[in-house]
Amino acid sequence: MMDGILAEKRNENDRFFLFVVDNYFKDKDLAKRVPAKPEDVIKFIDVDPHEPTTEQIDTLRDEVLSTKGLPAGVIGIGGGSIMDIAKAISLMFTNEGSSTLYQGLNLIKKPGIYHLGVPTISGTGAEVSMTAVLTGPVKKLGLKCEWTVFNQVILDPELIASVPVDKWLYTGMDTYIHCIESENGILNNAYSHAYAEQSLKLCREIFLDENAGQTAENDDKLMVASMMGGLSLTYSEVGVCHALSYGLSKILGEKHCYANCLAFQHLEDYYPEGVAEFKQMLVKHKVKLPQGISNSWTDEQITAMAQVAYNLPHMWNHAIGTDWKEKISIDLIKDLYKRM
Ligand code: NAD
Ligand code: ZN
Repeated sequence: MMDGILAEKRNENDRFFLFVVDNYFKDKDLAKRVPAKPEDVIKFIDVDPHEPTTEQIDTLRDEVLSTKGLPAGVIGIGGGSIMDIAKAISLMFTNEGSSTLYQGLNLIKKPGIYHLGVPTISGTGAEVSMTAVLTGPVKKLGLKCEWTVFNQVILDPELIASVPVDKWLYTGMDTYIHCIESENGILNNAYSHAYAEQSLKLCREIFLDENAGQTAENDDKLMVASMMGGLSLTYSEVGVCHALSYGLSKILGEKHCYANCLAFQHLEDYYPEGVAEFKQMLVKHKVKLPQGISNSWTDEQITAMAQVAYNLPHMWNHAIGTDWKEKISIDLIKDLYKRM
């Protein structure tokens, strides 16, 4: 299927494709099924050491441009990290300078090259969202504009079957949290609500009800839930949990989905029903989150995380309201971190 899709694009630019593939698949069957031709470039990327960085994107772009030229397109095969790498590099092939220049909303000047996404773990919604989140020297912030969105996406639920249960749950909970946050805030609207409602229904079937668990049927549903959760937040906004999660990722290097889970369990003041249901899901799948981790953090670290979180005004505005600055302070956010 992918071969057919790519055939139409192959003659563009310098007539080769760049495949960015999660290193997990390097010695697996999937790697053999990638329809790469001899002229194509395949990069297997280990996404575990850190989330995608601006430096990583700039280096890969410069390397490909100087050795092979401008690809006809980029194909990303992997999780949210690989989706973001594929989206970001597609834009950076046509926009000059470092990707740090474009972290923010609508800073990209030209459309990128063709890019195709093939998710292999579901939950972040990165397969449909209009942002490619990168960690730079100063900030963790996405390249966000309409051109960031994939030109095409292939959803094949068989690809997510091998995800281990803990990653399955953490990444799936990103979808759940996207919906809860999208729904609970001033930017929620009929469009984002329709997606969140469906996605939440699917999440309950996948993670909570009697047929919950990693089955082929639930993998179908999870791929759709992830997509709908991503669309819901695109038309609304995330909230308190994601603000705290960005602090945990930027200062302590915690992974997005896991960091969300660390934070969300303590946010019953903001999302009482969502947090209660989330805890039931953890119990159902025997996944335990660590407690008391803030005891090992210094006050400097907690302050730094609180500053990262506070500097996401769009999230607080949505979750708390336009007068959020009267209700949310650095000290209050520090207290939220100290609950962890
Ligand atoms: P990931 O891409 O970081 O991968 C998580 C782990 O799962 C890795 O160890 C990977 O090797 C493994 N894995 C992937 N597919 C597998 C499979 N089929 N079988 C076995 N193992 C597999 O995971 P993620 O949680 O999807 O993505 C997190 C990233 O997504 C973060 O960098 C975050 O910033 C980003 N993100 C982006 C958006 C967006 O809208 N662009 C939204 C949320 C999060
Ligand atoms: Zn998220």
